[in-house]
Amino acid sequence: MSGLHRDAVLKFFYGPMDCGKSTLALQINYNHRRQGRRGLVLTKHDRSGGPRVTSRIGLDGDAYEVSDDCDLGELVRRAQPRLDYVVCDEVQFYTVAQVEQLADLVDDCDIDVYAFGLASDFRAELFPAARRLFELADEVSRLQVEVLCWCGRPGQLNARTVGGELVRAGEQVVIADTDDSTEVRYKVLCRRHHRAGDLGRL
Ligand SMILES: [Zn+2]
Repeated sequence: MSGLHRDAVLKFFYGPMDCGKSTLALQINYNHRRQGRRGLVLTKHDRSGGPRVTSRIGLDGDAYEVSDDCDLGELVRRAQPRLDYVVCDEVQFYTVAQVEQLADLVDDCDIDVYAFGLASDFRAELFPAARRLFELADEVSRLQVEVLCWCGRPGQLNARTVGGELVRAGEQVVIADTDDSTEVRYKVLCRRHHRAGDLGRL
């Protein structure tokens, strides 16, 4: 192996909703493409409801929608021409097996993996895929793009509201957004107010 060899990396970028994860995912994809590298963008349950990565500031790009039974190792290995990197958005929704497949792609195929997602659910408990990424990633970065709780403290945790009331029980995955008027919504709170269940003024 030459001294110039750089091992491929598995990086996990995490933060609460609205912290700019999808924007950064698209930016990383753009930067690598400009360097002539070949990549694939994967997503799962994107807020657009289709196979796209959409960010709240309006950037978007084509992406491959991952289903639970999709073998990411096979998908990426079969791509022609060979891929240099994979960007995974909404990675908290991937299965643990899929996170293992991503790690294998890094180690066995020398493909960089940039994973973006939430760490914890509305109960402030880790998503299984996020937990596995904390265990396996070469680098973990917490994104804090000035998403604030209503009190002005940094927003850290995602609260789920149903009909305007904060809930602490229910399915781990319920797809909704922070900025629509549906029955189920999410709101980013600081730890203090997440634990207190204090939504501030709605
Ligand atoms: Zn607060």
